[in-house]
Amino acid sequence: MNRSIDSIIAKKVSHDVGILIFQYLNDIEPLIQQSLTAAKLKDFYGLKGKYSKGRFVCPFHHGADNPTSLSMNDNKRCFHCNACGKSGTYLEFIMYMQNISGRNSYNDAKIFAANHFTKLNLGFNSIADFEQKLKDKILERYRKTNSLRYTDYYDIWLLPERYFSSKEQSQVRQYQEEQQTKPSLEVSLSNSTNKPGFILESLDLEMTIRHLKAQNIIVNGITDYDEAVQFAKNSKLIKDFTQNADKLNSVDKLTDYMSKKYNIDIDTALKYGLIYFDKSSQHQLYYSDFFMLNNRVLFPVRDHETGIIVGYQCRRTDLSAPRHYKYLNITDYQDNLITNENGTTYRDFVPFKVGNFLFNLYELKGKCINTLWITEGIADAIKLSSMGYDAVSLGQANLTDYQIYLIDKYFGKDVTLNLFFDNDDNKIGQNKSIAAAYRLWQFGFRNIRIINTFKEMGKDITDCSVKLHDDDMLRLFINHWEKQAYSFAPASNEDLSALLKTGLYSESEILFIDPRDVERIISFGEMLNKYLDFKNMTYQQLKLLKKLCSFKEDEIKILLSLSTKDFLDVQNTNETEAAIKENSNTNIDSTQEEGNVEGSLINISKAQLFHLKKRFDIGIIKKIDNECSKKQIAAIVGNIIRNKDFDVWDYIPKNESHYSSTSIASSTNILDDGNFTPVYDDVSIPF
Ligand SMILES: [Zn+2]
Repeated sequence: MNRSIDSIIAKKVSHDVGILIFQYLNDIEPLIQQSLTAAKLKDFYGLKGKYSKGRFVCPFHHGADNPTSLSMNDNKRCFHCNACGKSGTYLEFIMYMQNISGRNSYNDAKIFAANHFTKLNLGFNSIADFEQKLKDKILERYRKTNSLRYTDYYDIWLLPERYFSSKEQSQVRQYQEEQQTKPSLEVSLSNSTNKPGFILESLDLEMTIRHLKAQNIIVNGITDYDEAVQFAKNSKLIKDFTQNADKLNSVDKLTDYMSKKYNIDIDTALKYGLIYFDKSSQHQLYYSDFFMLNNRVLFPVRDHETGIIVGYQCRRTDLSAPRHYKYLNITDYQDNLITNENGTTYRDFVPFKVGNFLFNLYELKGKCINTLWITEGIADAIKLSSMGYDAVSLGQANLTDYQIYLIDKYFGKDVTLNLFFDNDDNKIGQNKSIAAAYRLWQFGFRNIRIINTFKEMGKDITDCSVKLHDDDMLRLFINHWEKQAYSFAPASNEDLSALLKTGLYSESEILFIDPRDVERIISFGEMLNKYLDFKNMTYQQLKLLKKLCSFKEDEIKILLSLSTKDFLDVQNTNETEAAIKENSNTNIDSTQEEGNVEGSLINISKAQLFHLKKRFDIGIIKKIDNECSKKQIAAIVGNIIRNKDFDVWDYIPKNESHYSSTSIASSTNILDDGNFTPVYDDVSIPF
């Protein structure tokens, strides 16, 4: 398929000129309108007359000299001449004054107003000019690259990067708040209007990414991706590890760990640049006054554009060390030391924002790929790659919009995507793969398959690999799982609306539900609605209800006959909670809202959290999570279950830790590994 550059230009123009510019002008119209006042028009056009009364000499009719014939009304933003009868809006006033005519006259007037009456400088002075400049930019790039791939012209963007910053600060803040509280802005917005049901909207990937970049720039002055690359280029830490890999790598320990934990051989591990960082090597680094990096395996992630290492995902190898995060994503040392509230000084790391990259993309991007495997864990992608599959890893369980953009950019929307997320007990990986599939679908991907391991064998490919210890056998299983894959298709809008109407789930939650289960859950919800009013229920009660979906009507009746307290205690006998986590595809860092709190907890399991919430507020729960050992947490929870009177402060160590985990948690990106007990995934929680 050899597209000529003309068809690329036509396609780009039909999008940017056909849709985007008008959308943009609509978006900035309030700003333009606000900036148009009688005073400004008078100054700009040198109008004579009685400004104090909003009256002027009419500039339109011939021989006008009456200083009051033309009236201007700032409230209505319109003008009227008593003598010649000419009237219209302020924008039309500009249109007439500038002699703007033609098909785009109204929008051309907006552009003129934006350039001359607001602080915006659009860089073009009409729709036609915008189109011409766009064409010029495409041709300029074509002359440099000779590329005939449409995707190589995606990022050409004539509209101001500071799109949103030009708006009033309050609007910006509002926008940011929406970004934080609503997982998918577009979906939420489309439903905050008065539409009766739920409609799964198609989303424009280019627009979404542009908004994302604009958002980054407002908050940070630079896009997250550019910042990550900049950090990497100046990183002392990456320099340390790339220049002294041989000295810093404890190869024997790496061999042992990779073999035991992942069944990955040392040659493969070294090929991907993995480093086992032992405490004894710390003195060789630029800074050696930090705590968090010892006894971790460093998985380097490369920039898809340049191939340079942009950050490390560091996996702790010693699972018995409490209070240390299982994963750290880092890109550099902080130059400044931090002092926590206990007066202890320590060195933190510059976090690595993994959601702007895909592990192994740089290695794959030149390849013609029919099927792309996508895993949560980096080790899983390495294992699959070593067996000949084309695999990338998200480095986490959330697929970000930026990662979707990268998949589209390098492989197109026709590529078959095998979402191979963890098959964990809490169904988190599987729920997130559904959410990822919905998001991909909204952006126009149609070949999406959801694949999972046999749970009994292991939650992911490396777990299975360790069990089997035979790659040929493993390959048979992988091929089998692929054959059994679920070809994703979204639930119908009717079903999604019905699901929403049951009141059991929020708008974002329904997109975590496997479409194959939707009908069953709807009928469950509708049946339950006969007995219960969900509006009066607490978050925990609703969460529990969602778990009961597999119960029959008569069983539900028995349950409902119990008092609320007893009803909640059903929880005690049921350890796993297959509730769906509130989740954001656009926002990589976890927020601190209550609905999200379990995502940020490290030591406390989900079941434990349920009990802790009965007694303590989130602040204390976080403190417990940060400062108590696994044993102490179990003891606290035991007291709650047995309804004992006790003082929680007896269990919280006083000024013992060398650093505040809280401050590290807030600045460093931590992963949940699709598992609610990330630190102790290999250790069973004692109840
Ligand atoms: Zn007139």
